Amino acid sequence: MNGRQLPKTTSRRARAAALCAALLLAHAILAAAQPKAATPQPDDYLFNDTHFHLTNYIQEGINVRDFLKIMGNKAGRAALFGIPLQQQWSYRVDGDKGPTYYLNTDAPLYYYSFTDAWIAAAYKSLTKEEQARFDPMITGFNPTDMYAADHIRRVLTAFPGVFSGIGEFSVHKEFVSAKIAGEVASLQDPALDRLIEFASEVGLVVLIHNDIDTPFAKEGTPPAYFEQVKALFKRHPKATFIWAHIGVGRIVRPAQAQGALIEELLKDPAFNHVNFDISWSEVAKYAVATPESTRAVADILDRYPDRFIFGTDEVAPPDQGAYLRVYNQYAPLWALLDKATGDKVRKGNYERVFDEARRKVRAWEKAHVK
Ligand SMILES: [Zn+2]
Repeated sequence: MNGRQLPKTTSRRARAAALCAALLLAHAILAAAQPKAATPQPDDYLFNDTHFHLTNYIQEGINVRDFLKIMGNKAGRAALFGIPLQQQWSYRVDGDKGPTYYLNTDAPLYYYSFTDAWIAAAYKSLTKEEQARFDPMITGFNPTDMYAADHIRRVLTAFPGVFSGIGEFSVHKEFVSAKIAGEVASLQDPALDRLIEFASEVGLVVLIHNDIDTPFAKEGTPPAYFEQVKALFKRHPKATFIWAHIGVGRIVRPAQAQGALIEELLKDPAFNHVNFDISWSEVAKYAVATPESTRAVADILDRYPDRFIFGTDEVAPPDQGAYLRVYNQYAPLWALLDKATGDKVRKGNYERVFDEARRKVRAWEKAHVK
């Protein structure tokens, strides 16, 4: 209460009017005390986005405030990251034509750690309500380096209160892995184990890109990396994994019987800590290729509604139309899913995974960052 007294009046009508005014005043005070609705209410938006790149392969992109406008009332929250790799502009190779994408040139890519400071600065430029819509991720480490875990610790120390996870980082990625300067990444590298162990200790979500197979694999042969990726998941039962694109690439097509392979993980409680992101137009393309493929994907999502998370994998989209492209591409799938499954895949699973990560990482920072 604010200690205001009702004015002394004699007439009942005047008392009623005064009471009414007091109630209106109380209502106004309460309304002013409510936080501003920067975060759309649960039913206002279409999805949360578990896979969004604010910047591209030459570390350019859009302003985070412009991205907020693009999200509008369509996307509630987004996992926010840049790209850990910088495409070098080699004048010897490309002359005046600076490449903007890794496929534009034979010049190498290299790990660009400053991306993490860039993302932290973007996040810190926002108000508290705006920040609540983002889960920034640390990506600027070299997964072949035993010191990668130390980079992650350093980023958390420099920017406490910001990050919820690591990734998207890549181990095997068609055209990319072989182009990176230095040693090629491997799922069997102790450096990778060390950094995932550290992420597990902190509670950081691990968003990993690893193609299930090599490009142009011979039909009928087992996918090259499936056993290795399974072994990695199994070695780290305390990590919260999101396997980006379920292992599909641009030309690494879903392995024959990919549904059955993935279901092997879904059925086995030893992999309960592994989630799957269905982001990227290439993944959507295979999923909704035919009515039969769409049905098969819907069936597996309905059987395991807690394990799949929608994401866009858009890179610095220029406008909302471009940002909603993958969401709209999935329209035939959304139409087939049970309502409860659709809500979880589009929103609820993201909230479960990232709310838990926020809680754990903030607790770790409180205990370790002085
Ligand atoms: Zn991506």
